[in-house]
Amino acid sequence: MDRDECRAEAEAASSGDTSERAVERAGWRDGSGWPSPDSPAALRRQAAAYARTVPLGVDLDRIDWEVSRRAKRRAGACLHHRETGRQTIRLTWAAYESFGWERFAGTIRHELAHAWEFQRFDESSHGRRFRRVANRIDAPLSCPPFSEARLLLRCRNDDCDWRARRYRACPTVTRPDGRRCGDCGSRYRVFHVASGETWASADGYERARSRLGDRW
Ligand SMILES: [Zn+2]
Ligand SMILES: [Zn+2]
Repeated sequence: MDRDECRAEAEAASSGDTSERAVERAGWRDGSGWPSPDSPAALRRQAAAYARTVPLGVDLDRIDWEVSRRAKRRAGACLHHRETGRQTIRLTWAAYESFGWERFAGTIRHELAHAWEFQRFDESSHGRRFRRVANRIDAPLSCPPFSEARLLLRCRNDDCDWRARRYRACPTVTRPDGRRCGDCGSRYRVFHVASGETWASADGYERARSRLGDRW
């Protein structure tokens, strides 16, 4: 058992009932009671440690783990390397930030179910066999939907490429007036990705919000 796993065990023990009962009910660890990784490297380590608690009979020695910081449309992907018989499970950092660990653990289980199929059948889909395996480990049946961040902050200085993603109306989104780019200190604009609405002040936010209505 490596250090990450020890820490997770300790966390699970101290978080009491909830995770214990979930483990008892399902017979395995559903992702509750684990710490929340705060960096891509920590997420990669924890995902690999978590995979060892998922009773699926996947050969984990054949799996390489990656966490992508680049925006992706999927929360995770399982790539199969036919020549070597190995798999790469690639997880999307922004999806983890958006989902939180416990829900993201479902993404990890989904990708492990793909790995299970690849290792046995050299192919994987979302067909009946996949659904049977995914159900056994309570994994989502389709690649977990992950939409890009709802909001994007973008520096107004053309020479600066600072960007930041936001998922909800936090103060950096609702009151951009008094805040500055994290790199160069210039003002920034907020973009509502789906609609293209954009603003740089609290008033602007209020107006955009009411124009957007249900489309927020
Ligand atoms: Zn899938
Ligand atoms: Zn800047």
